[in-house]
Amino acid sequence: MSKIIASAAIRGAHNIVDKAEKKWKEAMEKWSANEPVGFPNTAYYLPIIYGISGMKVEKLGDMEAVLKKCKALLPPLVKEEHHLPYLGPTLDAGMLTFWAEEILEAIRYLENPDFYVRGEDVTDNNIWLGAADDVIMRKRGVEFVDGTAPGFAAILGAAPVDEIAKNIAEELQKKNLYVFMAGSHNGGKFAEQLVKAGVQIGWGTRLVSFGPDTSAAVFAMGFATRAAMSFGGIEAGDYRKILIYNKDRVFAFAMTMGDVTDEWYANGAGAINWGFPIIADTPIPQILPTGVCTYEHVVSNVPHDEIVNKAIEVRGLKVTVSEIPIPVAFGPAFEGERVRGDDIYLEAGGGRTNMVEWVTTKPMDEVEDGKIEVIGPDIGDIEAGSRLPFAIAVEVAGRQMQDDYEPILERQIHHLINYAQGVMHIGQRDIAWLRVGKQAVEKGFTLEHIGTILHAKLHQDFGRIFDKIQVKLYTEEDKVKEIVEKAKETYAARDARIEGMTDETTDTYYSCTLCQSFAPSHVCVITPEKTGLCGSYNWMDCKAAYEINPTGPNQPVEKGQILDEKFGQWKGVNEFIAKASRGKLDHYNMYSIVNDPWTTCGCCECVAAVLPMCNGVMTVNREHTDMTPCGMKFSTLAGTVGGGLSTPGFIGHGKYNICQRKFISGDGGLLRIVWMPKTLKEEIKDRFNERAKELGVPDLLDKVADETVGETEEAILPFLQEKGHPALTMDPILG
Ligand code: SF4
Ligand code: ZN
Repeated sequence: MSKIIASAAIRGAHNIVDKAEKKWKEAMEKWSANEPVGFPNTAYYLPIIYGISGMKVEKLGDMEAVLKKCKALLPPLVKEEHHLPYLGPTLDAGMLTFWAEEILEAIRYLENPDFYVRGEDVTDNNIWLGAADDVIMRKRGVEFVDGTAPGFAAILGAAPVDEIAKNIAEELQKKNLYVFMAGSHNGGKFAEQLVKAGVQIGWGTRLVSFGPDTSAAVFAMGFATRAAMSFGGIEAGDYRKILIYNKDRVFAFAMTMGDVTDEWYANGAGAINWGFPIIADTPIPQILPTGVCTYEHVVSNVPHDEIVNKAIEVRGLKVTVSEIPIPVAFGPAFEGERVRGDDIYLEAGGGRTNMVEWVTTKPMDEVEDGKIEVIGPDIGDIEAGSRLPFAIAVEVAGRQMQDDYEPILERQIHHLINYAQGVMHIGQRDIAWLRVGKQAVEKGFTLEHIGTILHAKLHQDFGRIFDKIQVKLYTEEDKVKEIVEKAKETYAARDARIEGMTDETTDTYYSCTLCQSFAPSHVCVITPEKTGLCGSYNWMDCKAAYEINPTGPNQPVEKGQILDEKFGQWKGVNEFIAKASRGKLDHYNMYSIVNDPWTTCGCCECVAAVLPMCNGVMTVNREHTDMTPCGMKFSTLAGTVGGGLSTPGFIGHGKYNICQRKFISGDGGLLRIVWMPKTLKEEIKDRFNERAKELGVPDLLDKVADETVGETEEAILPFLQEKGHPALTMDPILG
């Protein structure tokens, strides 16, 4: 460890801790010790402090203990004659820097609640996103776990000119990395430079502008710390495991752009604790020998056109970039990009014109691999701002191909098209919606390239199940209408196939263990009448996925002898659960929330909870961030039950599952639902009403309370009584 770095980092840490203490004292004069503090909508308090030390900072007064610890543990300033190894004390100083900065940022939220925007998007007036709430963390964190995002680059400072910032950001995006931005250099800020260079920033494009101050670096480190707790199932306070998890799994590094101040050194030293190396564009001392990080700790004076490659090399990251022969960049980092207003060159679907996407199987001799046809006008034939009807008909052929695989291939179209820079895609089937931006058109993008993408990527990812693929892109009204009609027949047949199936008449269920990478004992068993709790997998999907990849996470489960008809328990399922959970669990029920329910992982779409006073069950979807009648918000619920355990009284489940016949049927089924957020009611109302009719209570949805009725059991009970909700006269739910 370089003495210069050690002295500067420790000096920086002292400054920051002093600043936090001063700020805290001022705040204590303005507010009381009981004033609630924290980052918005999270169950992880101030996440670095919580994760590393286990201390929960909930009130202003709680900060005192943290600050005392900082003062006590802070190493003394390095003296001239000192010759001891510096690494340990420097890393400690870095860690305490983050604690102090979390305090600073939390007080900022208290003083100025609108300093940061909420949600995933920046606005015209405010580009600073602040702490990621738990909804964002789950959604984005999963990408780190499943590999869609290998990691992140934390950038401090600013590039010498806007254009360099843009180039570095785009290079990182192409490598699928997230870019977390904080701080400034000579008044310039990397995030602002991107905006000026016309780059779209926000969580959607993986260019995350955390904050203008150096202290916003804690939002990046807090994200990594929560990922370890949430996805790694690591307990708060188990700092060793949290740091090792990050070193091994989150491919992150810090990039300093500009003069490295004492405060930057302190933050850099902090990041090294997590195994994240520092790459600098200025000539600071290097720390090359390895130790905490996988390779070097600090590499400096790296030219801007080499900095991304150097960072990736130092962090030991293997990036697979798929080269698709199209004139725009391609990759998941461009998935969340929007095309709006004046930027739209071409628009199709979205209720403005007809649009449809359809994958169909053809005989071998009717498909010419790689053939792409545009039937009707292409982008070169129309003016900017035009609309066209649009049908994407993908025709595949192969000895292994089956009708059941068609929806799996079809579902890829959405994200594959979105991966193209400057192209936006929403929806699927005949509710698809496409926008092609002017920038993409300027680079030469045409509709034909949609065919290029589908041909290349579907071959790459699903080549096992088909041999040949051709794509027809129609933009003529009567042709599009024709495809819509044909496609609708296919959709109806597909839906009828799964809707017509029952658990009773099906002997083979399927497992999904995809989430075990972050919830190690979690096993989803998926039956025709119970979809996976993330909402992404139904029985048909699992069956097809198993056939496509026989050693993958979806395995057939022979249900075997029935052990409990009411609550849904089978011998074969139990045996599978025991094996797949490596003995953590030896059984669970498929139809009950009360009696040994299934396990829940953190990516569930909804969490249901028993409301004893109402003799019923509430459920809340991830998008609803307010309080619920069980006394917990979604984030707290998911954090409490989402670790892969079975928690009687609580289950995670998919939205679709609510209206399936077996949904908590052992406890009374849909008739038990007494509360749901209004938006969820709206979203599922058609299927809900149909199911309610079957149950003989056609107006059930009107009897279900929502947040406009109340957010506590006491508040909703009179409403349920007045409406005569059926749950009130059912058997006691807790038996
Ligand atoms: Fe699979 Fe269940 Fe995870 Fe969904 S929630 S990915 S179905 S294990
Ligand atoms: Zn999951």
